[in-house]
Amino acid sequence: MTLNGNLLIGAQEVGATAGSMKALNPATNLEIEPSFAFGDIAEVDRAARLADDAFDSYNNTSLEVRAALLERIADGLDAITPELAQRASLETGLPVAQLEGEAAKTATQLRQFATVVRQGRFRQATIDPAQPARQPRPRMDHRMQKIALGPIAIFGASNFPISYSVAGGDTASALAAGCPVILKAHNGHPGTSELMGRVIRQAVKDSGLHEGVFSLVRGGGNAIGEALVDHPLIKGVTFTGSEGGGMALFRRAQLRPDPIPVFTEMTSVNPTFVLPAALFARGREIGDGFTERMLVTAGQACLKPAILLAIDGIGYSELKQAMIARVEAMQSRTMLTPGISTAYRKNVDRQLGAGAERIAAGGKPLGPWDGQSFLFEIDGSRMLDEPSLSEEVFGPAALLVRVKDVEQMIAIARQFRGQLSATMQIDRADHALAARLLPVLERRTGRIVINAFAHPQEVSYASIHGGPFPATSDGRFTSVGMSSIERFLRPVCYQGFPDELLPEALKHDNPRGIWRLTDGELSKA
Ligand code: NAP
Repeated sequence: MTLNGNLLIGAQEVGATAGSMKALNPATNLEIEPSFAFGDIAEVDRAARLADDAFDSYNNTSLEVRAALLERIADGLDAITPELAQRASLETGLPVAQLEGEAAKTATQLRQFATVVRQGRFRQATIDPAQPARQPRPRMDHRMQKIALGPIAIFGASNFPISYSVAGGDTASALAAGCPVILKAHNGHPGTSELMGRVIRQAVKDSGLHEGVFSLVRGGGNAIGEALVDHPLIKGVTFTGSEGGGMALFRRAQLRPDPIPVFTEMTSVNPTFVLPAALFARGREIGDGFTERMLVTAGQACLKPAILLAIDGIGYSELKQAMIARVEAMQSRTMLTPGISTAYRKNVDRQLGAGAERIAAGGKPLGPWDGQSFLFEIDGSRMLDEPSLSEEVFGPAALLVRVKDVEQMIAIARQFRGQLSATMQIDRADHALAARLLPVLERRTGRIVINAFAHPQEVSYASIHGGPFPATSDGRFTSVGMSSIERFLRPVCYQGFPDELLPEALKHDNPRGIWRLTDGELSKA
């Protein structure tokens, strides 16, 4: 597929109206062809108007047509996977094999959402039939279903350039819900973004849908992103990135005359709590496993396990030595962008400034934007005094916390801000202590893992990739997994409707045979 760097506004190709950029290969620090257009507010306006024009017809497509769109996008991704992974590798420094895996996961996710659409349960069809004889007052027929929110602006993430980007989970779940999408491409991988954008655009065309169902915009600076959040025809936003960027956009959306939801996924250190019996039995294994996961993708993952807390005692020294060995054996690796690499170095210095002791270092940087791996250690009492030590260091660094006793471990757990995940490493003899820690963790995270390490998200019905602030801006929702569709839906009640006017999901004879809650009972009747 040929890249021309244009913006994709519906079916139209739009060249640069506000400057342009070239992708940077972070491994060589050299620019890569071609130039990619920057748009301005006028392109956002065109894309938003097209998305609004598309909304009624797209929201009312049959579930089959919508599911087929998602499958066409998945097929299109499969067809370009080698090219997509090559380009993404050039633009991010990530290995081709890893990116091919990301592409496969992204296509699988789109197909899973096609199943969700066909099942129709996302509608949450609910029926309270009329009770004309009810005393003291008859009840009218009430029916409820969820419909799409409206056009959605999606900010592609930098760190998973395929699965959290243009055709990633946010786009798949928004399209599944019936929302047209305007994608703000991340400038860290513009060619990768264009390749996926063209696949989606072709799938929209092949499905016979309105061109406004998908647009891709790009800009330099904040103007494009701000214009998207401000645009009156945009009805929701998703974002994955920094806390500063996410909260700036969140606050902006709340200042609109008509505030809209902004679902941000921002920062998490995914703490691991090693309880005493587990430490005694398998300290070395736990230290090794934690550090292996921490170093994956040079630590540039939202689920990176970044902080390990263990009570000083038998097994601690084995755990620490295993962590040191893994870090020292690690060569430096190219980080995603110069900005992320620079921020990493600054945050490593912040850890040192806050009193953490550097106990291991990996190979020295070889390339300009390489990240060197580090392991820090700190006493539990110092951790309690210095909350900045619990902040994210986005990159290949971790903090080992030497905790005095159980009370101190629970006190530190209480001090953590909201997290995407938390892990407990336990043996049978730890269960009573784990039960004490559990309610503390439940209040602080969307996912609790036992005897494993936070891992690139399993995409399934029960997956949750969310948590209290600042992991996300709204801990009631997930950005990964089948229930992520709920971000893009809102309920509508239809009262006293004749069957002819009812939406398909609520008609008397349930033509699609979907599960519905009728008078409080689940059935397909
Ligand atoms: P970012 O700087 O927050 O940018 C993400 C996207 O939002 C980009 O498209 C950016 O546009 C846009 N944006 C950011 N602030 C904006 C604002 N005030 N107004 C309008 N648009 C705005 O994130 P990043 O570039 O991916 O990485 C920077 C840092 O974010 C990392 O060092 C890391 O700490 C954190 N991060 C965390 C995670 C995680 O999952 N925990 C994932 C990725 C990044 P421009 O590029 O055009 O500015």
